[in-house]
Amino acid sequence: MLAILNYPDPGLSRQALPVQDPLDPQIQGLIRDMFETLYGTHHCAALAATQLDVPDAPAITVIDLSEKRNEPLCLINPVIVEASGHQKEPEGCMSVYPDHIVHVVPRAQRVVVTYLNQEGQEQRMEAEGYLAKCLQHEIDHLNGHVYLHRLSAFKKARLLSKINKVRRRLDKAPGE
Ligand code: ZN
Repeated sequence: MLAILNYPDPGLSRQALPVQDPLDPQIQGLIRDMFETLYGTHHCAALAATQLDVPDAPAITVIDLSEKRNEPLCLINPVIVEASGHQKEPEGCMSVYPDHIVHVVPRAQRVVVTYLNQEGQEQRMEAEGYLAKCLQHEIDHLNGHVYLHRLSAFKKARLLSKINKVRRRLDKAPGE
């Protein structure tokens, strides 16, 4: 299991490093650890390497949106090449106190993403709705952004004060 960084850890602002060789044993080992962390964390649908305690975080995200948790998806060097439409759905983040904080985030309804799969093969995926939202959220992470970045200054300020309240409460009650 890898440690998940909590906002505002400076590690969350890192730009992920492009993966040169997806088949490198170190990269493959990291992907295994990321899936183990994903499946070992309550209510975790997706993780990006930059939100984990990983040095030189590479551009990798692991996702499983299935109910049975048996549809693993690994995207290496993912890039959004097309985006259209709009959706505004509640979003939570494993790095932003997910048990306490969710917020509506404006996103594209549909995206097309190019990436390498775990075997290093070039892929192109078209996604809508929940998966499209998830891909945008994770690719933002790989570019050093948490979802607060997508909010207006006013909404962001209001959410920050809520986050600070949660942080103070959790600090006072460690192990909650
Ligand atoms: Zn997140």
